[in-house]
Amino acid sequence: MATSLETEHPVKAHAWAAKDPSGIFAPLKFSRRATGERDVQFRVLYCGICHSDLHLAKNQWGFTIYPLIPGHEIVGVVTEVGSKVEKFRIGDKVGVGCLVGSCRQCDECTNNQESYCPKQILTISSRYYDGSPTYGGFSNIMVADEHFVIRWPDNLPLDTGAPLLCAGITTYSPLRNFGLDTPGVNVGVVGLGGIGHLTVKFAKAFGSRVTVISTSASKKEEAIGKFGADEFVVSHDEEQMQAAAGTLDGIIDTASGNHSLLPLVNLLKPHGKLILVGAPEKLEVPVFPLLIGGKSIVGTANGGVKEVQDMVEFAAEHNILPDVEVIPFDYVNTAMERLEKNDVKYRFVIDVGNSLKAD
Ligand code: NAP
Ligand code: ZN
Repeated sequence: MATSLETEHPVKAHAWAAKDPSGIFAPLKFSRRATGERDVQFRVLYCGICHSDLHLAKNQWGFTIYPLIPGHEIVGVVTEVGSKVEKFRIGDKVGVGCLVGSCRQCDECTNNQESYCPKQILTISSRYYDGSPTYGGFSNIMVADEHFVIRWPDNLPLDTGAPLLCAGITTYSPLRNFGLDTPGVNVGVVGLGGIGHLTVKFAKAFGSRVTVISTSASKKEEAIGKFGADEFVVSHDEEQMQAAAGTLDGIIDTASGNHSLLPLVNLLKPHGKLILVGAPEKLEVPVFPLLIGGKSIVGTANGGVKEVQDMVEFAAEHNILPDVEVIPFDYVNTAMERLEKNDVKYRFVIDVGNSLKAD
């Protein structure tokens, strides 16, 4: 693959990468930094595919650094630790999610909210402290500062569990932080995809009443029968939307594509909150309905490191696991096409350990 890498590091590694906005993936040899004194190096075994990986592969947000090695739902087994690493040993099962760095000093960082640190470093398509691009889990080796490494609970499977590291925390954090983790609260979920189906599972574990708002009538049976949702509303059915008007305390909006917010604001009770976690290119804010109902629209980004650790432990305790389709690397281009067409139930996970061998 004729792609130039900016920085040459000592640890030779293999990946699948996209080299331009066509978003087509091909094998790539690259390098990672040597394990620093506070770093953990691990062999990647599984990595989930988030819709953000797809947005980035196609440069839909305009800041992709190519070649892009995506993947921020990364799990594996520790192979090396730096001399000052305290939390991990060789052989431990670990994970890395959306973040690999932050300033560690600001109010957000000291409050365990690293995902709001202005100097946060994303696991992919970001720049590390030394200026080199960050590369994610579509690769056989990962190196990260131990602060951003998650201890994997013993009874949580690595393959099906991997998507918790982004999809899981992205809904767990707002459910917890906006009081939607209380029994009896009425929670809406827009979009029954990777994050959406986990929203149903976490919200039900918290004892909430859950309404799914979906563009896909065909997902009703699984939403209710398999994931335990209480109601299912097809978003383009005006009668169904009208019947649900004013019923919800909060909505987690996970839709990846452009859509209208007004019908969703109408579903909220007075003072209800529409929480945007999906990242389409453009959404219009319906001002008047917000004023009249004292309602708010807010955005949230994944979660802090401690929250991720709490979340995987909660998931292990309550047996909350994503529904996944495990695939080899040579299926990744097809997987991306299917993800774009909303044809995955409900997360692809790449079997990195068995389909990307070092030579
Ligand atoms: P996904 O698995 O593709 O699910 C998205 C779901 O949204 C689809 O299954 C579909 O559900 C619905 N949808 C798609 N296009 C839509 C449209 N135009 N209008 C209404 N609904 C639509 O994606 P995901 O991995 O869950 O990610 C969802 C979004 O969250 C992406 O934009 C991603 O980049 C973003 N994200 C944000 C964060 C964060 O920290 N805030 C973290 C991770 C991901 P139905 O078939 O049920 O309608
Ligand atoms: Zn993600």
